[in-house]
Amino acid sequence: MVPAAAVLGAVGVWCALYLADSLLKSSKSLNTWYEEWLAYHGINISPFHIRWQTTLFNRLFGKVGRWKPQLLCLWFNLGLAFGVVTMFASIILLAKTLVQTLALMTGETSTVQNERILQVVVPGINLPASQMAYFFIAILISGVIHEIGHGVAAIREQVRFNGFGVFLFIIYPGAFVDLYTNHLQLISPVQQLRIFCAGVWHNFILALIALIVLYLLPLFLLPLYYTGIGALVTEVHENSPASGPRGLFVGDIIKYVEDCSVHDVENWHKCFEDISLKPQTGYCINEETLRHLNSMGRAYRRLDGTMECCSNNSLVDICFSYSNNLDSHLYACLPARKAIESSQICQTNMDCQKEFVPSLCVKPSLENQTRLIRVTHSPKMAMLFVGHPIHLQYAVSLTNYMPRFNFLHLDFPVVIETFCKYLLSLSGALAVINAVPCFALDGQWMLSSFLEITLGSLIVEKQNRELVGFFILLLGSALLASNVVLGLWMVTAR
Ligand SMILES: [Zn+2]
Repeated sequence: MVPAAAVLGAVGVWCALYLADSLLKSSKSLNTWYEEWLAYHGINISPFHIRWQTTLFNRLFGKVGRWKPQLLCLWFNLGLAFGVVTMFASIILLAKTLVQTLALMTGETSTVQNERILQVVVPGINLPASQMAYFFIAILISGVIHEIGHGVAAIREQVRFNGFGVFLFIIYPGAFVDLYTNHLQLISPVQQLRIFCAGVWHNFILALIALIVLYLLPLFLLPLYYTGIGALVTEVHENSPASGPRGLFVGDIIKYVEDCSVHDVENWHKCFEDISLKPQTGYCINEETLRHLNSMGRAYRRLDGTMECCSNNSLVDICFSYSNNLDSHLYACLPARKAIESSQICQTNMDCQKEFVPSLCVKPSLENQTRLIRVTHSPKMAMLFVGHPIHLQYAVSLTNYMPRFNFLHLDFPVVIETFCKYLLSLSGALAVINAVPCFALDGQWMLSSFLEITLGSLIVEKQNRELVGFFILLLGSALLASNVVLGLWMVTAR
């Protein structure tokens, strides 16, 4: 949950700001000076909303907007096509997400939340505090790139550009461009559409760039970091099964989970999925060692039907089951590390016949769902774990990137990777959501220009064209609103 202190803090800061603003505005002596100061700096304060507008970048926008007109025309025409397709696709996507959410709510499907394309994100609830910096910086950058799209497209269409600004609404940062509205109304619907679509187009391009960087990151970082030889531990979570003197440590390179080889982080997760699905693996132990190490007490059946044979409450001993030619239900209580540390894995006695000495395949006799897992990592000895595989799977943070030099930070590639993922999903979401034909979003203006272009000759009366647009807007708005409300409910109420 969101810590109450953080909420109170945010509300407190806003109240203090609004109070100071109101006091200064009502003060007889300072009023004129304050209003002039605000106007001069382009600052505007209203409840839970502060914005700053500047003409500092007007020249730069002008330069870019007049650069290679042909190329820019092609660029924004591509944006127009993308925008129109996305506008209609967003309705389908929202409808699909709504159906998925409703199915989840009524319990008719087992679709995992993460499988959904669109998801409401609430900082502090389904966004961990440690990731908030990524979230807000990615939102701000996506917003700025979006507005640069509108701004440059507008200048190309000869619309006057008044200024660029950024704002903070409650806790969400954003950006805007101030265009001369009268000019916007005078240009043709196609020109308008190019400007309105430019924002979502730029968001799509930004998401695409983030995706490419994400894919090519191993290549970009090649001079500094190498990949493909294992998963490097960057953090061992406190009090997790991986912590402790015989556990995993920052800097360890994980090579194997049982016999499943780990070349990268994805392998690590795949190995755990396999282990959870498959029955427990066994280990080859020669008969002599088995007899020597066995300290079996009275065997008894656990509540779940599995057998326990270690009665000494030792944390290092584990009950193993095995069979020989005479008996198929034998048990041995063995010190796990000594017994299996370097043994070959097996499923049946047949798998152990390769060794010269007569060996048997012993399998840990553990409670259902519980597994004995051997993690091989360099430079230290293997780590043994008994428990739910998922508890070990998420006990460490891992990276694919091994630094070539000591001064390089282990987290640096992870930071870039995480940031690219946020940029990809937030900029992508901004492209889709803004294109929804919904009141007050870009989609509203995109739809209106689009209908002017396509229905101009079909429906002669402008009033009737607007009526068609109004109904589509109503549908889009209802879809978006119900998705947001249900999404919020799903995130907070569960
Ligand atoms: Zn926009």
